[in-house]
Formats: sequence, structure tokens, C-alpha cells
Amino acid sequence: MNKFFILLIFPILALACSTGKKQDEKPVITVSILPQKYFVEQVAGDEFSINVMLPPGASPADFEPTPKQIHDLNNSVIYFYVGHLGFEKSWMSKFSETARNVSYVSCSRGIDLLRSTHECQAEDSSHVHLHKDGTDPHIWTSPENVKTIARTICSSLSEMYPGKKGMFEKNRDTFIEKIYILDNHIRDSFEGKQDAAFLIFHPALGYYARDYHLKQYSIEYEGKPPSTAQMKALVDLAVKENISTIFIQSQFETSKAKTIAKEIGARVISVDPLAENWLTEMYSLTEKMNKAFTAK
Ligand SMILES: [Zn+2]
Repeated sequence: MNKFFILLIFPILALACSTGKKQDEKPVITVSILPQKYFVEQVAGDEFSINVMLPPGASPADFEPTPKQIHDLNNSVIYFYVGHLGFEKSWMSKFSETARNVSYVSCSRGIDLLRSTHECQAEDSSHVHLHKDGTDPHIWTSPENVKTIARTICSSLSEMYPGKKGMFEKNRDTFIEKIYILDNHIRDSFEGKQDAAFLIFHPALGYYARDYHLKQYSIEYEGKPPSTAQMKALVDLAVKENISTIFIQSQFETSKAKTIAKEIGARVISVDPLAENWLTEMYSLTEKMNKAFTAK
């Protein structure tokens, strides 16, 4: 009897939901981080409304989706997730149980992933950047990877909206053209600076370093602030590698970076790999990095 009642009322509910939607309401796409919002918009223009799981300034450490985010995820056609972020690891199975009609697409698909050389001991799985299987999750800091991400977004959207395939592909090509120009600019900037080293609080630039033959050292060790002994080792390393700039990210605490900087007389410069305007951030990052290398 109950079952019958549900069967009866379900079409009414569905109808109520569909008529409740405004005609001009855009379909929703969910992404994990802001740079992905930018990537989707490059390919899809303003065809979709984008739900970002980790909003600007949010602390990755105590990530907890809001009821509105869950609601928006439920209404999404696709969730483009990064692939190996810590919070995705802890939440993805809950998301897919709750929002069953969403198509889940990993942006790490087809990317040559960087594996950590050491065993990752970090247990704090709520932290956005930690990854238990030792994969570097920061795929979006490499222009080459972002070309792949743009292709993934384009093919997924084209499959879902075949009528708009031509438009998506044209946009994708325009975006990839911009990435080629960026890539050439970065290569020119670092000409003759192969193997230059940089020190950063949180190791978000592993793929960038790989693409442009730079050496990334991080202050954070396996997702945790360094111990006193590690701090001392970092000071020695910075002196040995002739490092005069330390990069920090606003999402992370900066006191340890400042202590090391004071010790070696280095400058502290802020970068934001989670900025929404990815292209602008990549140019800005390259300029800061270039200054850091020439400041020696
Ligand atoms: Zn990170």
C-alpha cells in the first residue's frame, strides 16, 4: 500500500520539481576547485551554472559540504573531480551514493601522474591535498596537463550534448591555443635556468616543476609542518641551493616559512595555485618564479 502511494505520488513530485524550475535556468556542473570552474567555462562558455565544492578561501582541512552544495550536486549533470585530492577520497563514495544520476568524470584521466618517491604517512584524510596512495594531486599546475583536462571536459560535454559538440570543440581549441602561448612563454622565461630550485610551503607545483625542469622543495613534510630537525635541514638546503625566495600559499599557515626566510635572509612571496583565473595565475607565478631565480 505504501509502495502504491509512493508510485502514485512520485510523478506528481517529479512534475512539481520540473515545473518549479525556471525556463532559463542553466544546467549545473559540479567541480572540486576553482581552476576547474575556469576550465569548464573556457570549453562551455556560460552554458552552465558551476557549483564549486571548495569555494574561495575555504580551509581544505575542515572541508564539509554545505546542504546547498549537496543540493547543487544532486542537480548536476556532471561532476568533474580532480582525481586524487584528499577530500575527494573521503567524500566521493558518499557523493555517488547520494547523487546517483550525476556523471562522475575524473580530470586525472589520461594524465601521466607523479608518484611520491616516499611512502605517504599522512593520516589526515580530511586535508584536501593529502593523498594516501602517494599520488601528487596538483595536476592543474602543468599547462600540458590542462590541455588534457580541456579535452576531457570537451569530450564529456559533447557526449552529453551532441548538438553543441561543434561549439565545445571550437572553444576547446581556442583555449588550447592560449595554453600553447603560455607554455612557450614559460619555456622562454626559464631558458638557461634548468634545474633551478625553489622552496614552497605546500608542494603544489610538482607538475609545473616537472614540465620546466625545475626542482621543487617543500617546507611541509607529508602534509605536516616540519619538525625542528627538518627545519634545520631546510635551512641548510636553502643555503646549498642558493634559494633566496620562499613561496607560500594563503590557505596554509606561514610562520614556519617566515622563520626559514629570516634565517637565510630570503623573501617570502605569495602564490595562489587555487586561483580561479588559472591563466593569469600561471603568468603571475612564472614571473615570480623567474624573479626568484634571477635574484640570486
Ligand atoms: Zn595542494
